[in-house]
Amino acid sequence: MKLQISSYVLDMMIYHAEKDYPEETCGVVIGPKGKSKAIGVFPIKNIQNDLHQKDPKQYSRDAKTAYFMDPTQLRIVEKEAAKKNFEIKIIYHSHPDHGVYFSEEDKAMACPWGEPNDPNLAWLVIGVAQAKANGASLFYWDEEKKDFLEKNLKQNFRSERI
Ligand SMILES: [Zn+2]
Repeated sequence: MKLQISSYVLDMMIYHAEKDYPEETCGVVIGPKGKSKAIGVFPIKNIQNDLHQKDPKQYSRDAKTAYFMDPTQLRIVEKEAAKKNFEIKIIYHSHPDHGVYFSEEDKAMACPWGEPNDPNLAWLVIGVAQAKANGASLFYWDEEKKDFLEKNLKQNFRSERI
């Protein structure tokens, strides 16, 4: 897979995941079209709690176990990115008090019709326990296997503040 993520970009996502704990964080990383670099992190508001409050039947889970990116914010980022010939490379979210894995819900979101809308789009999941990130993996579509593969992002997570 051709996708370059610097430790700075990863740190930004981890920072937001820890800050938003115990709720799920979510956002996107953009990069120049056709290039492998994912360089710009844009946190997007998780509106899952609003949806859950308005319609608990359809949105049974709240923001502790689900995310829904604010469509208005997402559209603005997409529009601004396109102006600079950038595109979304990664959609990221966190799993508060759960491990790093690509859940059935995550898969369903990535593949609304059985296969991904955009096979080049990668998904990044950050595990957070007690407001500390404990792992991160990238999940990306493999055309031959017709499934998502996991790439564990080895990273020296920030040490305790002293
Ligand atoms: Zn998930």
